[in-house]
Amino acid sequence: MRVESYNTLAEAARAMGPDAVFMAGGTLVMRDVNAGTSAGRVVRSADPALTEIRATGDGFSLGSGVTMARVLAHRDLAFLAPVARAVGGPQVRNMATIGGNIFAHHPYGDFAVALLALGARVVLAGQGGAKPLDDLLRERGRSGGTSPIVASIEVPRPRDPRAFGFVKVSRIKPKGVSVMSIAVNLPRDGGRMRGARVAFGAMGPAPLRASAVERVLEGQSLDAATIARAAQLASDGLDPPTDALASAWYRREVAGTHLRRLLEKMERG
Ligand SMILES: Cc1cc2nc3c(=O)[nH]c(=O)nc-3n(C[C@H](O)[C@H](O)[C@H](O)COP(=O)(O)OP(=O)(O)OC[C@H]3O[C@@H](n4cnc5c(N)ncnc54)[C@H](O)[C@@H]3O)c2cc1C
Repeated sequence: MRVESYNTLAEAARAMGPDAVFMAGGTLVMRDVNAGTSAGRVVRSADPALTEIRATGDGFSLGSGVTMARVLAHRDLAFLAPVARAVGGPQVRNMATIGGNIFAHHPYGDFAVALLALGARVVLAGQGGAKPLDDLLRERGRSGGTSPIVASIEVPRPRDPRAFGFVKVSRIKPKGVSVMSIAVNLPRDGGRMRGARVAFGAMGPAPLRASAVERVLEGQSLDAATIARAAQLASDGLDPPTDALASAWYRREVAGTHLRRLLEKMERG
């Protein structure tokens, strides 16, 4: 096992290869290191850009190394606080990064679900421009988990904080892992939902958009009839796994109920 530390992200990106794993907070990588199943080289970077939090015109640019604890402590990121608080216990939140959460395997990835619903974009180290998180998560599925290093994440601020909702369903409170997590972003224009985004975690190999639900919500007002139709289609197109927490059948059965409760709570304001 060889640990390599680089001052800049560009150097770390150049050092990556099939025999290397990038380590951020290490809450998952260190498990593999301790179990002796990690890649031969662990690559780290102390680049200050990794921990930067910057306001942009319509949202925030967050370094991928920003931890859940820092999200919780940042006043302007209050809309993400319930999501960060849902990740593990205090020790985990002190180390766990938002970049690592994008690559965390099932049933982890609660923060990534919220980023997906918010329409976040990712900037890859050594590559110009940002691309949708949707694309990165799809590519991650195809490549079996490997990816270039994510440098930062651009997170749009919800126009109205009440338009964004998140729930994590777990069996052990408050620190249990997800039976599922759901994030919903419902921008409204004249009372009608425009550009609705709904994402589920632990309902597939990576966080997924619920496209059928989004189509039902689009252009509608958030009322009881629309919520009922959305709940009926909650698990459409999702591919929940069976694990020690719940079977695929159970996850499909309860997805509609949890989505309905979240939407009803948002309807009440
Ligand atoms: C006790 C415990 C409880 C947990 N509870 C939860 C929970 O409730 N919800 C939840 O979502 N997660 C949970 N986790 C999982 C994990 O802590 C989080 O998902 C965390 O955000 C992972 O971030 P990290 O920085 O620790 O990742 P690391 O362990 O450093 O890395 C994880 C993976 O991501 C890759 N990676 C990291 N950063 C980048 C980057 N910038 N670019 C490209 N690849 C990268 C690594 O190469 C590795 O494959 C828990 C873990 C533990 C040990």
